[in-house]
Amino acid sequence: MSQDVHPFSLQGEVALVTGGGTGLGQGIARCLTQAGARVIIVGRREAELQRAAAEIGPKTCALCGDVTQFDDVASVVSRAEVAAGGPISILVNNAGIHLKKPAVETSVTDFSAVLNTHVLGAHAMSQAVLPGMTSRGRGSIVFIASMTSFMGIPNVIAYSAAKSAYVGMVRSLATEVSAQGVRVNAVAPGWIESPMLRKALDGDPKRRDRILARTPMGGFGSPDDIGNAVVYLCSPAARFVTGVVLPVDGGASIGF
Ligand code: NDP
Repeated sequence: MSQDVHPFSLQGEVALVTGGGTGLGQGIARCLTQAGARVIIVGRREAELQRAAAEIGPKTCALCGDVTQFDDVASVVSRAEVAAGGPISILVNNAGIHLKKPAVETSVTDFSAVLNTHVLGAHAMSQAVLPGMTSRGRGSIVFIASMTSFMGIPNVIAYSAAKSAYVGMVRSLATEVSAQGVRVNAVAPGWIESPMLRKALDGDPKRRDRILARTPMGGFGSPDDIGNAVVYLCSPAARFVTGVVLPVDGGASIGF
């Protein structure tokens, strides 16, 4: 690493953040731009993307795309590269949907929708960027996992299955592509202020109290807490870090 490059700088990088128009994704996009990257945010709702891009600033560009349209994701990546004026060097698989339902009420259709978005969507996006990254010998892919990757939490069977799958995907992919210069990691957010958290806690004050009681730092995180962890994992400072799932959770995963 050259002496004059800050180890946490992402100057010159081009990042694609799925689900970057809201919540954690917007925080991740903001932090990546603050570290110097150009960022393309992808989601299905144009208005949310435009609003987020305007809030973050000129280094961010909005692009409509659906990660579950698997035949279309290669074209999303090509359009992102045209918009950014360079190849994608960072992919953040953040797009997600939540489903809170008892297991006995979770239909195959419900389950498939969650797996399609988180698991197959992230796989399709990774497949679309990997040939370019491995041929250039550099790149970073970050999955946004969850506390459900580690813990038993009731009424989220499909979501837990999807986020637990991320742990296996990160490890498998890291062993497959790290030798070619592509690092693959995950951030596992604890409970973070966002639209998804508000929906998950809606009408369930006991769940809210339980979360806070078991979080040693005693509060919810912010999207920027997640964004700055993503910056670290994608930066030269993490050049020897691959295959990890980093909890950013105020200690929730180790709290008693
Ligand atoms: P949001 O609901 O705000 O964000 C989800 C984002 O994903 C939206 O921008 C949505 O945009 C996008 N998205 C959903 N489906 C698709 C799709 N098929 N194609 C493209 N984009 C899609 O919730 P959060 O910010 O909370 O969640 C972001 C990620 O963080 C998720 O993966 C979630 O599981 C994870 N997470 C969140 C935690 C929290 O406490 N909030 C804790 C742990 C993990 P649109 O609808 O426009 O497509």
